[in-house]
Amino acid sequence: MATIIDGNATAATIREELKKEVAELKERTGKVPGLGVVLVGARKDSETYVRMKGKAAEEVGINFILKKFPAEITQEELIKEVRALNDDESVHGLIVQLPLPSHINEKAVLEQVGLAKDADGFDPLNIGMLAMKGHTPLSVPCTPRACMELLARYNIDIDGKRAVVLGRSNIVGTPVALMLLHKNATVTICHSRTKDPAAICREADIIVAAIGQPEYVKGDWVKPGAAVIDVGINSVPDASRKAGYRLVGDVAFNEAKEVAGAITPVPGGVGPMTVCMLLKQTLESAKRVYSAAQ
Ligand code: NDP
Repeated sequence: MATIIDGNATAATIREELKKEVAELKERTGKVPGLGVVLVGARKDSETYVRMKGKAAEEVGINFILKKFPAEITQEELIKEVRALNDDESVHGLIVQLPLPSHINEKAVLEQVGLAKDADGFDPLNIGMLAMKGHTPLSVPCTPRACMELLARYNIDIDGKRAVVLGRSNIVGTPVALMLLHKNATVTICHSRTKDPAAICREADIIVAAIGQPEYVKGDWVKPGAAVIDVGINSVPDASRKAGYRLVGDVAFNEAKEVAGAITPVPGGVGPMTVCMLLKQTLESAKRVYSAAQ
């Protein structure tokens, strides 16, 4: 049976490491990192994600600056508010919780977050630097970085291995494929038009599934001993649960764990690590500011 890659435990370890580093920065400079978060409207899921980010930031000693706005805010007003946060020297990482209400152009708002404060790693310049050999982005998308961190902390060899990424979104599939490529994997990206993804997956030493399709990757798609990183978060009806649903990944976990060498569960795999990477990138951003100032 596969080693279960424990995202909760790894995230707790990383939060301890971050806590120490934040304390060291404070000791050295008298400053703490600041994470600015812009939340528009009252979507329950967005509120939950923001609460989780706030709790984790507080735990490691990062100053959490939450700006909440009503769903009716105009695009112009929101742009002004995001610019003000971007100009605020106590804010080192700045994120806009997505999605925004439909009357607001997300791209126009995200463009107000400067490259240096792009803790989510969504800035096209950061993505461009990730894609280009010889360039180092300031930040990268947090979920792909979380996947790479889990592979590294579980000593999963990437160099020269076959990696298959399911999904090609800007925030998960494409950047994680680039990161695996930089670590010398031979990478194949599958998407909704890919023919016979099962056959492609069977050749993989590493599978990263990020498609948003519940339990899509079956046990017999997995090569014996392969590492499986399941990014998907899907709710499926479950009458036995109080909530009436349960969360599953993009991989049929119970089947795949019998074949894989290592596998992330959902929940408790990639999810808790993503917030850690946001905090890490906020700290890195603060360190860049204060080491440049010394
Ligand atoms: P998107 O919807 O933006 O992208 C989905 C990708 O999957 C697309 O590239 C799409 O292909 C591809 N795809 C869809 N169906 C299939 C299929 N049947 N076979 C092969 N490829 C397919 O999703 P995200 O990348 O934003 O998220 C993916 C999943 O990860 C979701 O479940 C999401 O909830 C989860 N997630 C989890 C996070 C975490 O912290 N754990 C963070 C972010 C996301 P095409 O391009 O051709 O349309």
